Amino acid sequence: MTFEAHLRRALDALTRDSLLRTPRVHESAHAPELLIQGARLINLCSNDYLGLASDPAIARAASEALLEHGLGAGAARLVTGTHALHRRAEARLARYTGKASALLFSTGYAANLGAVQALASQDDVIFSDALNHASLIDGARLSRARVLVYRHADPEHLAELLAAHRAQHRGALVLTESLFSMDGDTAPLTELRALCDRYDAGLYVDEAHAIGVLGPSGRGLCAELAVHADVLMAGLGKAFGCSGAFIAGSTELTTLLENRARSFVFSTAAPHALAAATITACDLVEQADDRRARLHMNALQLREQLTTFGYTILPGPGPIIPAIVGSPEAVMTLSRSLFERGVFVQGIRPPTVPAGTSRLRITPIATHSQAQLDRALEAFAALRPADGSIPPFHG
Ligand SMILES: *Cc1c(COP(=O)(O)O)cnc(C)c1O
Repeated sequence: MTFEAHLRRALDALTRDSLLRTPRVHESAHAPELLIQGARLINLCSNDYLGLASDPAIARAASEALLEHGLGAGAARLVTGTHALHRRAEARLARYTGKASALLFSTGYAANLGAVQALASQDDVIFSDALNHASLIDGARLSRARVLVYRHADPEHLAELLAAHRAQHRGALVLTESLFSMDGDTAPLTELRALCDRYDAGLYVDEAHAIGVLGPSGRGLCAELAVHADVLMAGLGKAFGCSGAFIAGSTELTTLLENRARSFVFSTAAPHALAAATITACDLVEQADDRRARLHMNALQLREQLTTFGYTILPGPGPIIPAIVGSPEAVMTLSRSLFERGVFVQGIRPPTVPAGTSRLRITPIATHSQAQLDRALEAFAALRPADGSIPPFHG
């Protein structure tokens, strides 16, 4: 078989299973409405929770730094790529999260990949929530530590695994998201912390979706619950409206990551202009209580209405509203029908979520107007499962 034929066969299998993904192309700034193929669509599948992705103050901070210092960082951070703006952004993020130190990464994917790989090795064991993000899973694989998966958000199962396996390994790390990206629920962080203390394990918390959204001044779920994370990972591409990510913790932690996280060591530094934008974004996020209140009101309204219409909505405290549909085919049909009615929501399919739980992942943002939510709800009402547009979910 030729190489092209191999590719064709793989693509045909994806197409047959309704798993082929094709990004929609839009032509506007990232906003509550997007211009797609000449039509204005209400954007209900964004992680720009606070509506800062197209904020003019952040754009201005980036462009001023860009004009003053240029775009390229020129080298990896450890070579000549570390600019004063990177250090200033890291100090700002450390202050915001109440940690001694913070280290920037180019993306959240790179942060988890590099940090988990750096913090565990052959002799160690990693306990990982069953619904953790791909970047945590891949970091655990790269570390070559033994990986034990505990049932989603289930501290009792974790306790069983720790009791049975912790003692046979040198170091132990518990990996979890705080606000789960696809289910929109939260980790039992208080219980996880207690288990980590009891079994001498480090607690690694990915706050990609919670930073800016939950907790006092948006400092995340750890801050809300007053739980100490040994490793706090947070993204800058979601509520911060920028790009990149950081890991915060002790100075020992960030120094070790600087030396050992391969995605940090062997990768060109992010543009200094982005670090400048991050500082402005951090100021805005910290003071965004109004936006957070609007975000949560928008989410609450959508949750309540969609439940009334008969959608199967998973409960959760934040803006991630999963409407479970079931098969990839059914979810993509529903997504297309919504699109035709002016609402853009992506269908989420395996391997992002377990088979049989394909879903719409509906996310309002702080800057959606009531009129926009009303228009979206009209479309959802017209396609409600009670009318037989989508099969009921039996999970
Ligand atoms: C989005 C996300 C990441 C990756 O962040 P990027 O900056 O998009 O690479 C990591 N962890 C979780 C839980 C995420 O949702």
